[in-house]
This record gives sequence, C-alpha cells and structure tokens, in this order.
Amino acid sequence: MKNTIINDIITNRGSDRKMEKVIAVSTNKGGVLKTSITTNLAGVLAREGKKVLIIDTDNQGNAAITFGKNPDNYEVTLYDVLLDGIHPNKAIQNLYENIDILPSNDDMGFFEFDVVSQLNKYNDPLNLLKIAIDLIKENYDVIIIDCPPNLGLVLGNVLKVSNEVVIPFQPEVYSMRSLQKILKQISDFKVQHNPSLKVSGVIGTLVDGRSSLHSQILQECRRFCFEKDITMFETIIPKSVRFANAVAYEKLPAILVENRTNNLINAYYDLYEEVFNRWPEKTEA
Ligand code: ADP
Ligand code: MG
Repeated sequence: MKNTIINDIITNRGSDRKMEKVIAVSTNKGGVLKTSITTNLAGVLAREGKKVLIIDTDNQGNAAITFGKNPDNYEVTLYDVLLDGIHPNKAIQNLYENIDILPSNDDMGFFEFDVVSQLNKYNDPLNLLKIAIDLIKENYDVIIIDCPPNLGLVLGNVLKVSNEVVIPFQPEVYSMRSLQKILKQISDFKVQHNPSLKVSGVIGTLVDGRSSLHSQILQECRRFCFEKDITMFETIIPKSVRFANAVAYEKLPAILVENRTNNLINAYYDLYEEVFNRWPEKTEA
C-alpha cells in the first residue's frame, strides 16, 4: 500500500496529484470558440475535482467576462505580472469553486510594444510567462491558457511554456489554409524554442450538422490531419444559440449551467476525455 502511494507520487498518478499540465487553446482566428473551449474545459475539470487556473492572454478579457466579471475592474493583471515582475498571486482571482483566473484587460494590448521597445530591460522576452507560471504551477492540477487570435510575442510566450495546444477549427471555405499556417508555425516554434510542445488536437467548432459544406470541410481536415500524423478529435462542438445564451444570461460557461442530459454539454465532456486521457500516453512517450 505504502509502495503504491510512493509510486503514485513518483509517477504522478495519485488522485490528488499535481499534474503540472499547461495547455493552450490557440489559433490564428477570432470567434472560433477559443474562450468557450478554455472556460468550458475549465468547468469540466473543476467538476471533476481538479484545481484549474485559466490564464487569459487576450486583451479582450473574455474569459473573465464569461464568468460575469468585468476585466476592467481588475487592478493587477497579467500585464503587470509579465512587465513589472509582480507575483502572479497578486493578480489571480477566484472565479468559481476550483477555478482561478490570471486575468487580462486592455493593458495586455500594449504587451508586445512595451517589451519590444525596452529590450534592454526584457532580455529574455519569450520567457516572461514561463517565469510567472513557474512561481504558481504547484498550486494547480491544470493550467489552461486562452489566447488572442493573432500570432506575436504573446503567443510566443504561451507556446514557450505550454505542453500542448488545442486548436479550434471552424469549417469555413478558407479554414484549411489558415489551419495549415498555424500548424506550420507551431511546428517551427517547437523546433526552435520548445521541443516538448505537442499539438493536443484539432477540434471542429461551430459545426452546423445540416451543412454539407461543413461536413465536407471537416472530412478534408480529418484527412489532412491523418496524413500529417496530427490528432483531430472525434468530438465536435455544434453551433448552438443556447450556448451563446448561457454566457449572456447566466454569467457562467454553459458547462456550469446545464446538466449532462444536454448533447452540447456532452461534447465538452467528450473533448475533456480526448484531451486529458491521452495525456499520460503522450507525456511518457
Ligand atoms: P474566440 O475566443 O475564438 O474569439 P468565443 O469562444 O468567444 O471565440 O466564441 C465566439 C462567440 O460564439 C461568442 O459570442 C460565444 O458566446 C459564441 N458561442 C459559444 N459557443 C457557441 C456555440 N456552440 N454555438 C454558437 N455560438 C457559440
Ligand atoms: Mg476569445
């Protein structure tokens, strides 16, 4: 028994383990459910008893808004942590049982300019987020990073510290082209800056089950991912007005409002299974 416990600690398999997993939800497009996936996955994890930190790196602050908070009211944010070396605990706020946030607001829009214009002060500009996360990661089972839709120094910091990236893919006419670009960029980044970075998987989002164009593009995406040896999750997130409404009226991600009799909620549980159950196999490889 004792050996099992020790073994669990060593192999990181206990029920109250600290997983120290950092997962980014990122792609080069807006409005494709990055924030929804971040907050709903956090909701599933929290319900499963995991302690989660959401790091919002997008200056729109939508992750906090999803929980009914106004990001403009946060006096200390990720910007202050990254630029002024403020301890992350001074910025972290609790959103819900088991869910904390390291929030961003408009200030984050100046991050890249402020770092690049003072490179004498920030001589390791890609590592600013990693330094901050190292200070607090022991406190969480999982850290999920919500990303802005553009590539740049913010995303560079995110990819530098992440173990895995979940890539939302909305099946529209030009989507394959931009997916190929982001995958190439992640692959180049991995080679140069973070060899252990993995694409967790590509997830179809805002899928209209009645649209033959959507199913055609999803099929094309599955084929492409298969050929490139990239995971495309079985799960898709359907387009649903009700999901958008949960955020607007309940001030919570849908997963924390609705129960599991709802097919859409099940989609986030399925995604959770796909993302997190693959982890041991991937990280030990
Ligand atoms: P991103 O972070 O990639 O910009 P969001 O997660 O903010 O995208 O989602 C974009 C919009 O879609 C938001 O207004 C959100 O409320 C809405 N939304 C979320 N889930 C769904 C869904 N399943 N179907 C339709 N709209 C959704
Ligand atoms: Mg967003």
